[in-house]
Amino acid sequence: MVNIVLFGPPGSGKGTQSEKLIEKYGLTHISTGDILRAQVAAETELGLKAKAFMDKGELIPDEDVIAMLVNRVKEENDPKGFIFDGFPRTVAQAEALDSSLKELGMKVDIMVSLEVERDELIKRLLNRAKLTGRVDDTLEVIENRLDVYNRQTLPLKDFYKEMNKYAPVDGVGSIDDIFERITAKIDAIS
Ligand code: AMP
Repeated sequence: MVNIVLFGPPGSGKGTQSEKLIEKYGLTHISTGDILRAQVAAETELGLKAKAFMDKGELIPDEDVIAMLVNRVKEENDPKGFIFDGFPRTVAQAEALDSSLKELGMKVDIMVSLEVERDELIKRLLNRAKLTGRVDDTLEVIENRLDVYNRQTLPLKDFYKEMNKYAPVDGVGSIDDIFERITAKIDAIS
């Protein structure tokens, strides 16, 4: 079993690479952004609360996202491993992930960090807006999401570096080249 945190700013290609990783390693994909968008669409209590944060590009409060994540992990019977995509985004979330995996006899094995410059991210996200019409892919919200990422999420690199789990990957290039760089890092530890 291998549990991967796929880390990187909005637009770094986490969703695209997750799909390929699931196929290769048979892992369970957990994207908190996807779960939250489904909650918004279903107009659940959590969805209604989350929408206000998501529309502005702010993070949903830790307690809500952590509860949601832990429930999702526990739903899985006999998993081969997980890819966490878009989670954790704060140190509190990383600590909660560690302790809930420990309770289940698991751990995060590697944090693959997709590294992409800000200008390239903005270009990609504006392009995605045209293709998917995601409501939080407007220039103003994109810039806020990137600022929120730098402020609240980047410190997680140090969290995983200290545990020797940080694996940086150049996130610019063809999808297949980036995928190869990622699998080289995963195969080196498993
Ligand atoms: P994403 O699809 O991962 O870019 O997430 C879209 C939006 O969902 C983010 O801008 C946040 O508002 C919210 N979100 C997703 N994951 C988290 C998380 N782990 N913690 C807090 N908010 C989150």
